[in-house]
Amino acid sequence: MELTEDQIYRYSRNILIPEIGGAGQKKLLNSSVFCIGAGGLGSPVMLYLAAAGVGTIGIADSDKVDISNLQRQVIHSTQDIGKTKTSSARQKLNKLNPEVKVIEYSQLISQQNIRDIIRGYDIVIDGSDNFATRYLVNDACFFEKKTLVSGAILQFEGQVSLFKSHLGGPCYRCLFPDMPPEGMIPTCQEAGIIGAVAGIIGSIQSLEAIKEILEIGSSLDGRLLVINTLSMEITELKINKLQNCPLCGNRPSIRQVSDYSQNQCTTN
Ligand SMILES: [Zn+2]
Repeated sequence: MELTEDQIYRYSRNILIPEIGGAGQKKLLNSSVFCIGAGGLGSPVMLYLAAAGVGTIGIADSDKVDISNLQRQVIHSTQDIGKTKTSSARQKLNKLNPEVKVIEYSQLISQQNIRDIIRGYDIVIDGSDNFATRYLVNDACFFEKKTLVSGAILQFEGQVSLFKSHLGGPCYRCLFPDMPPEGMIPTCQEAGIIGAVAGIIGSIQSLEAIKEILEIGSSLDGRLLVINTLSMEITELKINKLQNCPLCGNRPSIRQVSDYSQNQCTTN
């Protein structure tokens, strides 16, 4: 596949970067990314991936757009209230870049369907807001040998990392071995979130995915970036692989994906 003149012009600011060039742009156009959630994180993730020319974007979200989402979920507009988030996001992405193929998954993701859904994608980005979904996605990525870019946000703080557990790196369970009891960690719905924090973390997630596709730079594999925007401090924590991780450790006890206590996918 050769880039058309229109593509060379549209993506000229990408192509100018030595690490990308025409060859890198073709990689992006041929790549596919699956995004869990069309919410606060999913919005910047998908907007930047589509703008950069990532060829195929899959979106999983079972919610409808609500007026209280619009303070941070910038892919949706007031006129989209009541639409499914997947259709609202698809329409926005198609307007931004008609070249991008957008595939909607408006059903709940579950142990039954997640492996089949992510199998065809190069990279998975988690923009969910609950531990049950994060564990489900983590386990599915391990079994399907997919790189996972994970993000979390609350109030003024955000965390972001990347997991390549299928290649020997730590997984999300190595970072959080035990799922906190339901209700222990407040959600954005309970404790609030500043929209711009979702913008920062989601942008980093999309950048990590783009770097993976291009095979450039140093990824967040084995590192957790914690950003406190109130004090404007960024901390980097090393994530060690747990030898006794039930999923990716020496004697794994988890042999297949299963649903966890809150078996629903909601997004912040
Ligand atoms: Zn692990």
